[in-house]
Amino acid sequence: KKIIVVGSSHGGYEAVQQVLQDAPDAEIQWYEKGSFLSFLSCGMQLYLEGDVKDVNSVRYATEEGESAKGVHVFTQQEVVSVAAARHNVHVVDHATGDERDESYDKLILSPGAVPASIPVEGSDLANIYAMRGRDWAIKLKAATVSPDINDVVIIGAGYIGIEAAEVFAKAGKRVTVIEMQPRVLAAYLDAEFTDILADTLSEHGITPATGQCVQRFEGVDGKIARVVTDKATYPADLVIESAGVRANTDWLDGVVERDGHGLIVVDDHQATSAADIYAVGDATEVRFAPTGGKAHIALATNARRQGRIAARNALGEDISFTPVSGSSALSVFDYKFASTGIKESTASDYGVTAKSVFVGDLYRPPFVPDSAGNAPVYFKLTYAPEDGRVLGAQIMSTQNTTANINAIALAIQLHATVQDLAYADFFFQPGLNRPWNIINVAAQQAARGIG
Ligand code: FAD
Repeated sequence: KKIIVVGSSHGGYEAVQQVLQDAPDAEIQWYEKGSFLSFLSCGMQLYLEGDVKDVNSVRYATEEGESAKGVHVFTQQEVVSVAAARHNVHVVDHATGDERDESYDKLILSPGAVPASIPVEGSDLANIYAMRGRDWAIKLKAATVSPDINDVVIIGAGYIGIEAAEVFAKAGKRVTVIEMQPRVLAAYLDAEFTDILADTLSEHGITPATGQCVQRFEGVDGKIARVVTDKATYPADLVIESAGVRANTDWLDGVVERDGHGLIVVDDHQATSAADIYAVGDATEVRFAPTGGKAHIALATNARRQGRIAARNALGEDISFTPVSGSSALSVFDYKFASTGIKESTASDYGVTAKSVFVGDLYRPPFVPDSAGNAPVYFKLTYAPEDGRVLGAQIMSTQNTTANINAIALAIQLHATVQDLAYADFFFQPGLNRPWNIINVAAQQAARGIG
């Protein structure tokens, strides 16, 4: 069997590893149009803040390592079109300019997404950056130490925008985050949490400019100088756009079915509308566990799971993607939060009626002083009011309590209820928890209101 995998990020990587594991005799061709294999954007903040020194180490596969396993790795080689009926792809080698056709038995696509640029006047000015991939990582790193850059304006207060804000605040720059929504991180957390985080950002010199829309970029000598919104004007030596992504799928027009956003339509086996072509990652949607419907949740975790499932199905198995809830976590200065599933503020987007309980507790028993690692914990559990089915949760503390959210993700996956969680067996040890885990506390409160 000859299997072609397109894209060397999370989805493509996992597909390759699964084929190596299950079909060691298969011929694998792995294509990456960039010059670098498997850059890990998730690790970019660690590099920009100096915890990781070498940009080239922010990866999980090298050409040499994969070649040694028998994979035919092609970097700087772009798959520009697919002839699905003939089971051929057309490849352009950007290093030499050569072009060729390659045949496949199975084709696995993980072309991902690129940062969306805001279509306003001035968007072609210099010093308008994005935060994705190795090339931007190198440019952003230079900007953190550039004496010419003092005012940084970030557009979009999702987790990438907030990571960028923290990087540049720590680098001593004045940072403004412009966000259309009335709150930062609104897709991840309800107001009880984002109110605290907005204060934290302000304390660290970051201005959250929420509830406003960028109208134009103004420049001086071809370089960005100001960002004008419908509410104010902000000085800017550097703009970082982190307001969403655009699927990298134009080259697949007419080959596989795509939706109105350009996302490749896949079934639960990751199969596309074309025979023997599978697609995974940010260019696709996933099955969303809380509703059973489809959702676009651009996370490495999803791409990795899909990559494994696609490869197994391509090799003849018959397995479905396990629905996911969009579990994610982030640290924002001293705070660490995680969330999964539906929030009170996102329930209506999913057409779901939801109820929530919010609990403020301590990480450890009250007799443990803060100096020994105690701290407040905030937790919110969201559930269906009619039967108590768990729909989502959010947690935040200056201590690391984020892993609790994995238990909630599993509860959602298994259709558990708040009644199931009320007395669920969670450990107690005064150094690590309280006698009642905060999930128990919230679930007991929620269960009281259910038939
Ligand atoms: P992408 O990562 O978009 O990669 C696609 C690759 O395919 C690219 O290298 C591209 O050059 C190549 N390609 C595309 N078309 C072709 C073609 N025709 N021929 C050859 N090559 C092609 N997710 C998490 O779960 N946790 C995190 O902590 C996290 N942090 C993040 C931080 C940042 C700053 C960013 C930007 C993202 C983060 N993500 C995180 C999201 C995660 O990076 C993405 O969900 C993931 O990279 C998607 O993987 P993918 O395989 O779909 O595609």
